[in-house]
Amino acid sequence: MITQMQAKCPDLGEHMIMSKLVAYTSEEAHSSVERAGMIASIKMRKLPTDEKFCLRGETLRQAVEEDKALGLIPFYFCATLGTTSSCAFDNIMELGPICNSENIWMHIDAAYAGSAFICPEFRPLLNGVEFSDSFNFNPHKWLLVNFDCSALWVKSRSELIGAFKMDPLYLRHDHQNSGTGDECHECGRDRIRDDEHNVW
Ligand SMILES: *Cc1c(COP(=O)(O)O)cnc(C)c1O
Repeated sequence: MITQMQAKCPDLGEHMIMSKLVAYTSEEAHSSVERAGMIASIKMRKLPTDEKFCLRGETLRQAVEEDKALGLIPFYFCATLGTTSSCAFDNIMELGPICNSENIWMHIDAAYAGSAFICPEFRPLLNGVEFSDSFNFNPHKWLLVNFDCSALWVKSRSELIGAFKMDPLYLRHDHQNSGTGDECHECGRDRIRDDEHNVW
C-alpha cells in the first residue's frame, strides 16, 4: 500500500502515509485484530454492528467516506465469519464490493467457525468470499489439530510475498526457486516443523 501510494505521490514520505492509513473491523471482531492495529501503529476503527452483531455495508461505506473527507487513506478491512462471542456473520456480500471498489484489502477472519465450511450445508455462509483478498481459519479449534495451526489463503501470492521479501545470505540455498522458501513469515517455525504437512 505504501509503495502504491508513493508511486502516485512521490513526495509523500513513508511516515506521512503510515499516519494516514486507516483500517476497519467490527466491534465484535476478535481482540487480536485490534492488537494487530496496535502492533502496526495503525488506526483501527471498530464499527458498530446491527442487532444480530453483523456488520453491514452501509456502516462501512459511511466510515470510509468520513475518513476520506478527513484526508485519511482507508486500506484494510477485516470481516468476521463466525465471531468468537456469538458466532455472528458480517454481511460480506454488502461489504465486499465496497472494499473492492475502494481498493481496500479485505481479510476474512473465520478462525473460529471456518472449519464448518467443510460441510456442504454450511457453504452458502461463504457467499461473497470471492471479494476477499485473504481468508483464514483455525484447524486448531474445531478440527482438533493439537498444535497452533491457522491456515491462511491469499488471492495474490506475489503481493504478500513481495511485501515481506528478504534475502539474507544465511537463508540462501540451491533449491530456492522450487520450495516454499520465502512464503512463511516466521523464520524458524514453519520451516523446521513443517506444520502444513503435519495437518495434511
Ligand atoms: C480464536 C480466534 C482468533 C485468534 O486465533 P489464534 O490463531 O488462536 O490466535 C481470531 N479470530 C477469531 C474470530 C477467533 O475465534
